[in-house]
Amino acid sequence: MPKAKFEILRKCKVCGSVFTAKTIESWYCSPKCSKIAWKRKKDEEKRRSKLEAIAGGVADDADYISVMEATAIYGLKKATLYRLVRSRKLPSINIGLHMTKIKRSDIEQMFPEVQAQEIIKQEPKLYSLEPKDCYTIGEIARKYHVDESTVASHIRKSSIPTRQIGNYVYAPKSEIDKLYQSL
Ligand SMILES: [Zn+2]
Repeated sequence: MPKAKFEILRKCKVCGSVFTAKTIESWYCSPKCSKIAWKRKKDEEKRRSKLEAIAGGVADDADYISVMEATAIYGLKKATLYRLVRSRKLPSINIGLHMTKIKRSDIEQMFPEVQAQEIIKQEPKLYSLEPKDCYTIGEIARKYHVDESTVASHIRKSSIPTRQIGNYVYAPKSEIDKLYQSL
């Protein structure tokens, strides 16, 4: 019987070129593009966690906050806030050089639709490291169209737990799927 073969043509999410996806979960044309996507995702995470740290550092009862803090708390654009401050539409006070403070109540009045963004608390992670609930590195590489050394480095960077049995390294399917599907 001839081997059944079907092709999935897809546009690479990074470079836009059309490629044949090896699995339905391949989104990038090459390991290079998948690396770029990975880097972008990490940068975005870094940016977000920086903002969360800034927002988390503001006392709940602080009346005056910096523009950066307002950006972090309300998700408003820094440029928008500075423009409003410069045009004096948004009252501000200056504390020393380069430290403009604005009043929270002014922001909330001006942007009634914004609300202080809740800081998402990370749920404790639950994994199973039983081989039946895991992929080997090779399986991950094939499934997600990345080379094995890249998989290993993704696992390291994301602190996904692994387990070695004989020559194989196992990583929980749930965490790996979450990782690559969010890319
Ligand atoms: Zn590409």
